[in-house]
Amino acid sequence: MTITRTLYLLLTSLATCCAALCWSCTAKGTAAGAGTVTDSVVSTEKSEVFSADSAYAYVARQVAFGPRVPNTDAHMRAGEWLASELKRHGAVVVDQPVTLTAFDGTKLKARNIMGRYNPDSPQRLLLLAHWDCRPWADEDSDEAKRSEPVDGANDGASGVGVLLEIARQLGIDSPSKGIDILFVDAEDWGSEGDSDSWALGARHFAAHPPVEGYSADCAILLDMVGGKDARFYREYFSENAAPELSDALWQTAGRLGHGERFINRIGTAVTDDHVELIKAGIPAIDIIEYNPSHGFNEHWHTSHDNMEGISSETLGIVGETVMTYLRENY
Ligand SMILES: [Zn+2]
Repeated sequence: MTITRTLYLLLTSLATCCAALCWSCTAKGTAAGAGTVTDSVVSTEKSEVFSADSAYAYVARQVAFGPRVPNTDAHMRAGEWLASELKRHGAVVVDQPVTLTAFDGTKLKARNIMGRYNPDSPQRLLLLAHWDCRPWADEDSDEAKRSEPVDGANDGASGVGVLLEIARQLGIDSPSKGIDILFVDAEDWGSEGDSDSWALGARHFAAHPPVEGYSADCAILLDMVGGKDARFYREYFSENAAPELSDALWQTAGRLGHGERFINRIGTAVTDDHVELIKAGIPAIDIIEYNPSHGFNEHWHTSHDNMEGISSETLGIVGETVMTYLRENY
């Protein structure tokens, strides 16, 4: 992902696009049902809602494959493993292999992988993260390292790790409505300054859903959710497309005591996978580390985006927040 530099241009087009969107993420559950779940979550069963240690282990497992850059052996093996993990946790797995063309002409053997819970339910929440790694550490201070791929522990693996732990939880206690967990490919083979060069896998998914007539009430994207002491501000495009969903997530985080991490203010506009879903009519938000004082995580697109920068505490805060929202509404 990248910070949107042509901000005004995009804001104008997105505002037009979003004006046509009808907020449909209306699943709120009954007051009694929501209250019951909330009470048990906060007071007695907190450790069972979401395991931060498990999410951390899922991040480490991905990094152990090596950089998951499309067209590499590590990428292929990691993709097989992701599909098998979703299946192991009881999801109906939908595979979407596709060859995509990157901005530099490279043909990318990409693969979107979706795990579905209650596939027949018309009410659906889509959770997604990108699983590929950036081929170049082009933000590294050491020029010699800028042509090397990044480990993507935070940028890629953290969001996937949280979602794999959520899949594990859903395998133990299935949701009453529909949940889809989507790992999108080819997010990070982009060119700075060219907003169309990013999020190729998500764009393909949105234009060619692998399930006929696919739709979701709304979507939550997790990206760079494992950094130490990370702060999550509300993201601009998310705010236009799905303000009620942002409200719900940030309020949930506050109620769980994570208000110092989920800052209830707009940070910036980020070109990321969620924008492709918004364009396709699915209200979507992006939970992404960004701090107005210094931008993305300092290891972003550098050789330092490895396990040393991953905090199980942060994974746990994000995971518990999303999982609590999910349990109360789906
Ligand atoms: Zn990236």
